[in-house]
Formats: sequence, structure tokens, C-alpha cells
Amino acid sequence: MNTTILGYPRIGARRELKFATEDYWAGRADADALHRTGAELRADVWTSLRDAGLDAIPSNTFSFYDHMLDTSVLVDAVPERYRKLSGLDRYFAMARGVQDVPPLEMTKWFDTNYHYIVPEVGPGTRFRLADGAAAKPLAEFREARALGIETRPVLVGPLTYLLLAKAEEGAPKEFRPLDLLDGLVDVYSELLERLAGAGAKWVQLDEPALVADRKEEEIAALKRAYARLGRLTSRPRLMVATYFGTIGADALRVLAASRVEAVGLDFVAGPSNVDVLASVGGLPRKTLVAGVVDGRNVWRTDRRRAKATCASLLGLVDQLVVSTSCSLMHVPIDLDAETALEPGVKERLAFARQKVGEVVALGRALREDVPLPDDATAPPATVNREVRERLETLDGSQRGDRGARFEAQQEALGLPVLATTTIGSFPQTSEIRRARADRRAGRISEDVYIRVMKEEIARVIALQEDLGLDVLVHGEPERNDMVQYFAEQLDGYAATQHGWVQSYGSRYVRPPILHGDVARPRPMTVEWTTYAQSLTSKPVKGMLTGPVTMLAWSFVRDDQPLADTARQVALALRDEIADLEAAGIRVVQVDEPALRELLPLRDADRPAYLDWAVGAFRLATSGAADTTQIHTHMCYSEFGEIIGAIGALDADVTSVEAARSRMELVGDLRAAGYANGIGPGVYDIHSPRVPATEEIEENLRRALLAVEPGRLWVNPDCGLKTRAYPETEASLRNLVAAARRVRAELTG
Ligand code: GLN
Ligand code: ZN
Repeated sequence: MNTTILGYPRIGARRELKFATEDYWAGRADADALHRTGAELRADVWTSLRDAGLDAIPSNTFSFYDHMLDTSVLVDAVPERYRKLSGLDRYFAMARGVQDVPPLEMTKWFDTNYHYIVPEVGPGTRFRLADGAAAKPLAEFREARALGIETRPVLVGPLTYLLLAKAEEGAPKEFRPLDLLDGLVDVYSELLERLAGAGAKWVQLDEPALVADRKEEEIAALKRAYARLGRLTSRPRLMVATYFGTIGADALRVLAASRVEAVGLDFVAGPSNVDVLASVGGLPRKTLVAGVVDGRNVWRTDRRRAKATCASLLGLVDQLVVSTSCSLMHVPIDLDAETALEPGVKERLAFARQKVGEVVALGRALREDVPLPDDATAPPATVNREVRERLETLDGSQRGDRGARFEAQQEALGLPVLATTTIGSFPQTSEIRRARADRRAGRISEDVYIRVMKEEIARVIALQEDLGLDVLVHGEPERNDMVQYFAEQLDGYAATQHGWVQSYGSRYVRPPILHGDVARPRPMTVEWTTYAQSLTSKPVKGMLTGPVTMLAWSFVRDDQPLADTARQVALALRDEIADLEAAGIRVVQVDEPALRELLPLRDADRPAYLDWAVGAFRLATSGAADTTQIHTHMCYSEFGEIIGAIGALDADVTSVEAARSRMELVGDLRAAGYANGIGPGVYDIHSPRVPATEEIEENLRRALLAVEPGRLWVNPDCGLKTRAYPETEASLRNLVAAARRVRAELTG
């Protein structure tokens, strides 16, 4: 019985990688220094995995930015515009852009919060092993070997690589990246032969794309690719790893019939992998790498259950290897570094280092058939009876009739057609950031902090009055992060001190841990919002983060369905909205930027997800009076599968990104039956560019082709917190001017 893991965090326990790359980018350190840090981090991971007693250790899981980008460089899928540069400069230009050359696109890695750099290929792309004998997987294999550690190089599988790639601009319509498979397999063949030559006994090929719905031709491509790789005369043994869900039976059948020696399945995110495995008759001549320790969440493994799962699989396979469900890069590195977790929580957790220990212990328990230490000592999650009882009896599904609400709000708010507003945050100046940091470090008193924040709020309100906006915001100066801010105030959530996880490149996040029943001990936003409202006669919009987003950007308890946890968060938000209303706030926005990203990978699982996601939003918002206007906001314009759900949320006003797609979304939403207010972002806040008044007017006129003026709102694409004041002020001035001109045309 062997043990392994699919990958390990690359960022360093003290975020060494972040500081080293940022020093390099800023010119504070040279390439040698960066490479030295990389080598130290890799050596550290390999030796600690060996010392922990893990049998098979992965390599090539390190990256200066992203493993998909590494793969693009490895196979020379480098678009022409970067070819003037070389080495690290080229690499980072692809990731982040340089002066006139924009970076490659970036998007989410499956349903995680990790973002990868999207490969860009076209019919002219010719793959080749760019660095030959110096290719990164080979170099890292040798580097580990020089330390006396045998490793298993990890590669992104050729199918997944191409399925995640996008066609370059100008490629013929019928071109699909997958058309390039044969050329890519040539390069993988060469690489595998070279790895074998260097002494690699195993190679791991990651094919997580196999846990999503796959077309027949994609399964055929899988078969072709692995038939070719399997037939190579001189190659390491091949392990094809899948994760983040349940593999399709068609895909597993192909792998079972192929010559690959091992298949990895995720039994945490995909418990029905057990059934799929049985349905194809098992893998009688292969090794199963059984992902039974959760690589994506922070809970300690129920080792008895994991052991039982492994035991039940033994009869279906030739060999079994105990492993993590996916790479551990999605969890923080070391629980031992946490000294401030509330009692009862830490005992329930395991981070990457602890999870390696669990894998090792499980392997030993299975091999030697020794009993596992008792896990029952971990305390259960906190229970809040009151919250549970209220949720049982509350029917929070329905607001009043839409038409009646519209009328009531028209009267209560007295807003013009084409009402103007913003999405919530205003620029976060260094002064604000400093005040928050000083408060955290105890360098300033609570009174001083409150004064600084109030001054900022007053400034933002005065600015909005001066600009002539219709629905104002307080600007969110007190929030560093839209989830963490609420998590810190809710019972049932804990914060870590060092629990960093890579989001993309050198950007790491520290997701809060939702560990118990969620409850709101006291109002969370009422004071700031009512202070802002006291300064103006215009309505100030309260600003909350929705239940789905509160879950999506946290580590969430796995001892009850997500739907139940979402309802607890929703109840807290419902109470917050009631308190805001009671304090005189007439407009409340509940942001749900993560609604689309939690969408399950398989079509069949989507309706159930959307059902609870929509239900939680409605539970949060349906207590509001007809006269209270509920807004929601999403940061994208490609709604695809969720477009129907937008209407079901039943917000009075929905703001979305639309400037880049030239307002097309307005028509799409209408066509999907959405009949309430729409605030298509009329300019892109992701760049400092100031949009001309005429340009915004044009966008408004285009939107008016699909929606009546009384339902159209005028706002930027997203919050303004990453922008500076000069461009923000200029842009908003043009926004208000444009709204006024179009309004005048309509009424006059
Ligand atoms: N209200 C938030 C803000 O303006 C919304 C951010 C978001 O949706 N990502 O910053
Ligand atoms: Zn947004």
C-alpha cells in the first residue's frame, strides 16, 4: 500500500514566492535571486514530503506564476506578440502584460478560486519541446534527484490543456484547439521519452477535464492521445489523475482499456466514483490512486471512513495508492502556524502539512492493518438552536407582486428615469488602508479609527452630491474584502493568521473558515450606512454580500449540505436588511458576484444548485417591504447557464458588466424573461481610462433598444475600490452628464 499526494502549495510557508516575484518585478532583485528562491522552495517541499514518510513525491508542481502558463511555455505555445522577449521576461509578459502588449487571458481553474492563464492557440500553432533537455519537468526531476529524492513529474494532460485553451483572435470559426491534439501528443511523447531517459519511473498527467460533461469526439480524442502515449517504447509509467468530481463512465472505460498504469479518482468531490468504477468492471490490471483526503477543504479527514472507502475499493483494482483528492495547493500550508483560532475549531482542521500526515497514516493503517487513532475527539460544530428553529418555520421565498413593488418604490424614492448610481466601493486611498492596518495593529484607538472612516464617508457623500448621482453609497472604506468583512462579524466563521492560498500569480487570499452555525450577534453595517444617510436627502444604498458569495470565497463546513449553510447566512442578511430598513435605509444591494462560479461542472447537477442559490438569495431579501428597493450585482456579462436564475432572484434592480459586450446583455436578459430594473455597466472600471460622455450616451441608447427608460439604471461595471480618485471623478461626471442628456431627449 503506497501513499502519494497530487500536488503541494508552491507559495512557501511565509509567502516567500510572492515577495520574491514582486521584488523581481519591481527591479529590487535579479533573476538569479528569484531562481534561488524557487529552488529553495522546491527543495523544502520535497524534503518535507520525504521526511513525512510519503512514498511517492510529486515534482513540477512548483511554478513562478501558474502551471498552465508553464505548460504553454513548455510546448512553445507562445503567441507572436511575446516572442520579442525571452526567459522570465517573456514568461511574466504572458502572465501580466508589458507596456503595449496585453497579457493572456486569465480564468478560473474549474470550480476553484485559483485562476490559470488561458493558452491561446490557432491553426498555425506548432508545438515543440521549447527547451529540449532543459525543459522544466526534466530540470526539476534532476534537481530533486540531486537532493537524493526520486519524484514523479506532474504534467497538465494534453486533453485538459487543449480543452482549456482558447482559439486566437482571427482563427477560422470552425477551428477548435483540440484539432491540435496530435501535434501536442508528439511533444508529450518526446518529453516522456526524455523523462524516462533521465530516470523517471512515473509521470502524472492531470486530466481534470474528464469530470465535466464531455462530447463523443472529446472522448475519442482522449482515446487517441493515450493510445499513442501508452505505446511509446521507452517511457515512465503513466498515472492519469482526475479530480474535482466524478469521471464519466465513457472516459474511465477508455482509460481502463488503455495502457496507462494508474488512474487517479477523487472520492471526496466525486463519491459516486465508486459506482462508476464498479460499473466499468474496476481496473483489474491497474493501480488506483484513491483521493480520499480532501485537497480542497480544510477539515481533518474522517480517517476511519477514508479507510473503509479504500478497503471497499481493494477488490476492484490491482493496486491501491492512498492520496489526496486533488493538489493541496488549494489549502493553506500549516495549521501549526495558527495560534489564534477559537477553541474547538483548530482540532477539526488539517492544512496541507497535516493532510500529508493523514495520507501517510492511512497508508500505514491499510498496509499493516493497524487501527487508526481515535478521531472522535474532534468536537462537533457549534449549534445555534435559535437559528435552526427560525429557519424551520420561516417561509422566506416570496416578496410582494413585482408590479406593485415597482409602483411603491417609484413613489417612495422619487427617482428619475435612467437613475444613476455606483456599485458600492469608492477608491481605497492609502490613508484608508493605513487606518485599517493601524487599527488592526492597535496603533490607533477605535475612536480615531471611526473618525477617519466617517470623514471618508462624508467626503464620498459630498462628492456624489456634487456629481449629481441619484442613489448614493457610503463607499465601503471600512472593508478590506467583501467576504472577510462580514465573516469577521458573524458567529460560525473563523479567520486564520497565515492561511494564504494562491488565487493567481502573486495574489494570495486568506479565505475565512465557516465552521459552525452562522448567526449575527449584532448589526454589521447599520452604523456606517445610517451615518452616510444622515448626511444627504438622497437615498443611500446599503451594501451586503450575498449568501452564495459568502460561501464561495470561504472554506465551508462539509458536515451539512451547502444549501443549509447558505440559508443560515441568508437569515443573518435578512435580519441585517430589516435593521437597515428600520434605520431608514430605503435601498439595499446584495452582491452575488460568485453566483456563476459555484455552478457545478456537470449539467445534471446545475438545477439543484441554482435552486438553493436562488432560494438563499430570496430568503435573504424577501423580508424587505415593497417600498424597499433590493439591488444585486454580478461582475460579468456572460450569463450562459444562469441567465434564467437572474430573474428568479427577483431583485428589483440587477447591475452587471456590459460595456465590453456593448450592452448586448440587456437584450439577452429581457429575452430570458427578466423584467425588473437593469443596470448594465456603461463603462469598464478595470482600466483607468475615462469614458467620453458621448460613448456612455451611445451605450445608453443601445440599452434603450431593449428596455424601457424607467427600468434602465446608469452605473459603472463594478466597484471602484481599485481605481484612483482623478479618473473616478472624471468618469462619473461623464456618466451623470450622459444620463442627463439622454433623459432630456426622452422627456423633452
Ligand atoms: N459592492 C462591491 C464593490 O463595489 C462589489 C464588488 C464585487 O462585486 N466584486 O466593491
Ligand atoms: Zn462587480
